[in-house]
Amino acid sequence: MDSNLQIADLLAVRNPATGAVLAELPRSSEGEIRAAVQAARDAQPAWNGLGAAERARILRRFQKVLHARQSEVARLITEEAGKPCVEALLTEVLVVLDAAAFCAENAAVVLRPERVRHANPVMKAKTGRLLREPQGVIGIISPWNYPFSIPASETLAALATGNTVVLKPSEFTPLTSLLLRTLLLEAGVPEDALHVVVGEGPAGAALLTSHIDKLVFTGSVATGKRVAQAAAERLLPVVLELGGKDPMLVLEDSDVEIASSAAVWGAFVNAGQTCLSIERCYVHRSLYDRFAELCAEKAARLRVGNGLEPEIELGPLIHERQVRIVEEHVNDAIALGARLLTGGKRLAELGPNFYAPTVLAGVHHSMRIMREETFGPVLPIMAFDSEREAIALANDSEFGLSASVWTRDRLRGEAIAERLEAGTVMVNDAVTCFGISEAPHGGIKASGIGRTHGRIGLEEMVRTKYIASDLMPSVRKVWWYGYGAEFRRQMEGFVDFLFSNSLTRRLRGGLKSAGAIARKNKV
Ligand code: NDP
Repeated sequence: MDSNLQIADLLAVRNPATGAVLAELPRSSEGEIRAAVQAARDAQPAWNGLGAAERARILRRFQKVLHARQSEVARLITEEAGKPCVEALLTEVLVVLDAAAFCAENAAVVLRPERVRHANPVMKAKTGRLLREPQGVIGIISPWNYPFSIPASETLAALATGNTVVLKPSEFTPLTSLLLRTLLLEAGVPEDALHVVVGEGPAGAALLTSHIDKLVFTGSVATGKRVAQAAAERLLPVVLELGGKDPMLVLEDSDVEIASSAAVWGAFVNAGQTCLSIERCYVHRSLYDRFAELCAEKAARLRVGNGLEPEIELGPLIHERQVRIVEEHVNDAIALGARLLTGGKRLAELGPNFYAPTVLAGVHHSMRIMREETFGPVLPIMAFDSEREAIALANDSEFGLSASVWTRDRLRGEAIAERLEAGTVMVNDAVTCFGISEAPHGGIKASGIGRTHGRIGLEEMVRTKYIASDLMPSVRKVWWYGYGAEFRRQMEGFVDFLFSNSLTRRLRGGLKSAGAIARKNKV
């Protein structure tokens, strides 16, 4: 069958709070996805040829355009993903405004060629230069939970470094990505430098097998593993930003008021559908009862409803399937002995996708709620007796995205941070590291491979090329053919000459480079 004939029906995009259809979009066929990648490939040399300074100017224009239309963008995010409008503004629009500035300022630095000094005396006869070039076409596959900030920050990093992009947003939130493209085009990004293709998993799979040069994937561990397998088939480089089960450690010297407010926000922001959500909370036994009581009180007070209403603090989950996962985890915990302090039920009167903010005490590591990513508004709290135990509990997870430590002793918090198995550890804050444009974002263990954001995120968008240029082209190299017993003896002497301790130190450190000698002697 001609793949271009696969556009059988339309993709309905719904508001998860009301179920209302926001738009019906034609799905991109495999043929269209391949054509988009080819168009992006054809457009890449000209986009790269503009130079980092001109691209930075375009990104700054995008920043102005986005700033001017912040409310429109935030509203669309809320309509598509359900989160309160103020969260859409602070955790998405603001993050992208800052990412645009960061990419505009830093891409030229990352792309700057670097002169490399050779320490080995023989290799001093060559100059070394490290080039960083754009990968080419970057494929981006993104999830629904941060439908603007995730694809936008990755797209900006790719564009700033001279790549073109084909973006496949989640089937649940394509409108935000389409609006992102509109804003970038308005700022001066050429049409073919950024394509957005629409569809479900198969559209992502088609992008993966198309002629892209690198893939940046954000999503679940299960899909991430499938993506990694498909990428391995053709040795496609990938960045995988996957799930988390992020621990919060509340030490005995913490301010219990502050820490409980942080736990409630960190567990329930975006209805708990945040990769960096607090999904496990460990509290020193001396604070445990008071902390749990405060969390339950604060969670019960949260106003749940349609995120478009300004006083709403917690929106719906993205779909009913997600509600079912949350329900299963909570029920499993209760069946195994957890105490329900608040919530633990659907809010059917608000709609099929609403679940009450839930606090559980008396949890342990045999429960799914402490092992699997729940991705919903649940805060399970467990007591610990010693710092060592807290660290061991935090590290007892297949995931390693982020973690947080709460203490009045910042240096102690930082020392514990060094012992936690996570891509990022926050001391006295949670979740917000995603909003630090300079901070690399990504996980270890099952939470992923590679980084987005920060200098390291920009470096993921380039490939390196080393240029080693010989300064003595007319000189035959001693290691070339002509092997034999005598040659071997000579080479042993040569190795001794290079690596007899005192000589090596002098040659590696103090002597003028062979290159300089060669230039002087005009070899
Ligand atoms: P999924 O893994 O279900 O989907 C992620 C993206 O992959 C979607 O665009 C999806 O399309 C697409 N996809 C699905 N199947 C395939 C396939 N076979 N090949 C290629 N692409 C495919 O994740 P969710 O959208 O449900 O997002 C939630 C997950 O994302 C959570 O686990 C969360 O922790 C993680 N996440 C990680 C972040 C991080 O930075 N580490 C940040 C944010 C979220 P479609 O939706 O249309 O099916």
